Amino acid sequence: MLNAVAGDVESQPMCPQHPEREAVCTCVRCGRYACASCERDEGRCSECARLSALEVPDSRERAHRATVLQYVSAGTSLVGLLYELLLVPEFGNPLAAERLSRWGVLVLAMAVVVATQVTLLMWVHRVVRQLKALGADIGMSPARAVWMWLIPLLNWVKPYHVMRDIAEKLGGASFVASLPLQLWWAANVLARILEKAEAKLLVRETATADTTTRDVVGLLSSVCAVAAALLYVQLIKDLQTRLDRRREGIEEPEAPVAGDEAAAA
Ligand SMILES: [Zn+2]
Ligand SMILES: [Zn+2]
Repeated sequence: MLNAVAGDVESQPMCPQHPEREAVCTCVRCGRYACASCERDEGRCSECARLSALEVPDSRERAHRATVLQYVSAGTSLVGLLYELLLVPEFGNPLAAERLSRWGVLVLAMAVVVATQVTLLMWVHRVVRQLKALGADIGMSPARAVWMWLIPLLNWVKPYHVMRDIAEKLGGASFVASLPLQLWWAANVLARILEKAEAKLLVRETATADTTTRDVVGLLSSVCAVAAALLYVQLIKDLQTRLDRRREGIEEPEAPVAGDEAAAA
């Protein structure tokens, strides 16, 4: 950014948007002068900041897809839950057919998990990209944010931080506090632990194995998975609504100037 020379009152350039105000810099993108209230991140004028923010497509479609898949995910977990509640006690001892359908449910659940994860991460990627363009960088690239869900060990903690940072950039501490972030992440972590435990019990299972433990673990795992999916839906919707509002503000060319006037008054 080129700072206008201080003290040189005679040749002081004025802001084209606000002719009564002195320019403090020239925009690195279009080269026009900008006053303090027109100056935006990375040395751009307000108009250039607005235009570059709008160059990133919005994430409404991706948010919709991600929430639909979370509902499907909750649905499959619910099927698992009903299975635990209704079918297992009736048979008592595990039959071959029962074990087969249990594996069928697991395979279906895995396919849903993958699809759910893909749509979720596509949404996260687009959201982080938009925030960067809006001058609200969360401190990592969109690709890096996505990797936080995929890198072993890191993915037990980091997705929480990414979602929290996104929320903070969108609405500050009060918005973060209004979201069920901790509950969401606790449900996710618990669902993962129980799912792993259930899979282990399923593999080790013999005719003499303690099926009650496995049933209880399976039941809890399903409950947590349903809760995690529904909380994901709420978070995606809340964050996307905030983001939509932020974008609507910049889609109206007059809005930022009007906002500046109000702030200056
Ligand atoms: Zn500009
Ligand atoms: Zn100005």
